[in-house]
Amino acid sequence: MTFAPRRRTATTIVGGVPVGSSHPVVVQSMTNTDTADAEATAAQVVALARAGSELVRITVNTTEAAAAVEEIAHRVVDAGVHVPIIGDFHYNGHQLLDRYPACARALAKYRINPGNVGGKRRDENFRTIVQIAVANDKPVRIGVNWGSLDQDLLTALMDENARSAAPRDARAVYIDAMLESALRSAQLAEETGLAHDRIILSAKVSGVRDLIDVYRLLAARCDYPLHLGLTEAGLGMKATVVSTAALSILLGEGLGDTIRVSLTPRPGGDRTEEVLIAQQILQSLGMRTFTPQVSACPGCGRTTSTFFQKMAEDIQTYLREQMPVWRSRHPGVEEMRVAVMGCVVNGPGESKHANIGISLPGTFEEPKAPVFVDGKLVVTLKGDHIVAEFLSILEDYVARTYPAPESSVAAATQVR
Ligand code: SF4
Repeated sequence: MTFAPRRRTATTIVGGVPVGSSHPVVVQSMTNTDTADAEATAAQVVALARAGSELVRITVNTTEAAAAVEEIAHRVVDAGVHVPIIGDFHYNGHQLLDRYPACARALAKYRINPGNVGGKRRDENFRTIVQIAVANDKPVRIGVNWGSLDQDLLTALMDENARSAAPRDARAVYIDAMLESALRSAQLAEETGLAHDRIILSAKVSGVRDLIDVYRLLAARCDYPLHLGLTEAGLGMKATVVSTAALSILLGEGLGDTIRVSLTPRPGGDRTEEVLIAQQILQSLGMRTFTPQVSACPGCGRTTSTFFQKMAEDIQTYLREQMPVWRSRHPGVEEMRVAVMGCVVNGPGESKHANIGISLPGTFEEPKAPVFVDGKLVVTLKGDHIVAEFLSILEDYVARTYPAPESSVAAATQVR
């Protein structure tokens, strides 16, 4: 299946990362720590960046949060991580950016929700943020959200629709209001002095069909880069499926320049999960490569033990954990394919298709596990140390096939 070519857009540089046009679709994420806690927030920014997030957003909601931003940026750099940090502003962004110039300087981009910049003084407050962005040479994302839409604009469009000869349904007017809010705000930002190529737009909703309709219409009406994502995608499996469904359709149509999966983490869960899902969507679509992929069979009555399930999981985890270092030390390794199969039926065949694969013994099969490298049987493992021995073969393969460039040792500790 072929996808539509990427939509032509302006290119917005966010802290050195190009967003838009033919540049790779950028993965981003957002912290959920209290931004006023600089130590905890910096640690999460570092974790998200090391997981592969190329932009990280933090909320800037209070004076304490604004005061902490510069320290957060320093702490992240001190950890050897270079990732653009974006400030998320609602209600008081104009005041915080004005009162905390170090915050305005430290952030790589400002996100403004036009529905949340103040009632009667909305345009004035919006202009203040844009003027600060211009003065600091920062881009802006105008992020409209279904849940916090500009109520004055919505009411005006609803009234206009009610008076028309052929009123449309409320959903259509709602979508119009989202588009108008985004596009009018972009126009106001440009009139205030922000360059056309310093603007990214988003118009997030929580329903898959709604999101697809909104973004198709938005893309047809402007050439700003688009930030894609379902808002409030939800929890776990549901969030993964709805985000994948919505984003895959839009990305396949060439729409979307940066994506976020708004996953609600489990209590105490790992915030980096949203990064891995976003990466997996792009990698599954063949649009980018981030991590070696593990093919594992689902198992069946031929695998009555959980050994091979655990092995597949251990290997996937191992690969992900190596990537922050491997990314610079072994360029190209992200394209490696690994197979972990449960029995002789499809095991050898699938393993031969992978760069490196192992076919474990199914129930009643002889207890041995042939290992295939680039399609050839190289060794047959037996005994209690199959996983460790397989990982050793895997490491040798990586070192041999994806050799370290000269500069990789210094670069290995840097993550952009
Ligand atoms: S490879 Fe073997 S264990 Fe895995 S699903 Fe197929 S038949 Fe079952």
